[in-house]
Amino acid sequence: MRILLVEDDPDLSRQLKQALGDAGYAVDHAADGEEGHYLGESEPYDAVILDLGLPKMDGVSVLEQWRRANIATPVLILTARGAWSEKVAGFDAGADDYLTKPFHTEELLARLRALLRRAAGHSSPSLAVGGLRLDPRAARATVNGEPLRLTSLEYRLLHYMMMHQGRVIGRTELVEHLYDQDFDRDSNTIEVFIGRLRKKIGQDRIETVRGLGYRLAPLVGEPQEG
Ligand code: CA
Repeated sequence: MRILLVEDDPDLSRQLKQALGDAGYAVDHAADGEEGHYLGESEPYDAVILDLGLPKMDGVSVLEQWRRANIATPVLILTARGAWSEKVAGFDAGADDYLTKPFHTEELLARLRALLRRAAGHSSPSLAVGGLRLDPRAARATVNGEPLRLTSLEYRLLHYMMMHQGRVIGRTELVEHLYDQDFDRDSNTIEVFIGRLRKKIGQDRIETVRGLGYRLAPLVGEPQEG
């Protein structure tokens, strides 16, 4: 999953980037409204964390323009303490959730997980396909109860595929949701990561749909878990 963070405070940005990275997300950061607006319009993020008080273009205007352009990405806004009217303006502009500064990073991460879950149409906090289970709260996955040792990219790949289980996902889509913008993106490397992940979770779990992409499907004859 790939997140856009639009925040002008350098200390808070550094802290959040670190926490989001540790939680298993690819993160792009914009330090002003113009850059944030541009990135949100040109890259398919899974969610956006948007500060409202920003240089060059304020957060409410950024959000209004995205929504006018039919960009439906879930957006969590960061508002200043006591500024209730900011929250109203943010929700009216199309925000999905908010947090008032200062906040605990854990709360931000929990709200983000809820946003991503709702956007993908899942109700349970952990994701399961057959005996394969992934818990975004701990950034961990297991097969039949056995913990999987995954690199951060393998975890991100599995997380995205489990969020969209049963659907065929193209290579370009995977590239766009796994790597941050500074990463040297090459869709051929996806095949390598899929191969490594198959070795860890079982060869048959990821199906190759020729010319279209990959699909994470329950094994034949395996009961579906909730
Ligand atoms: Ca600010």
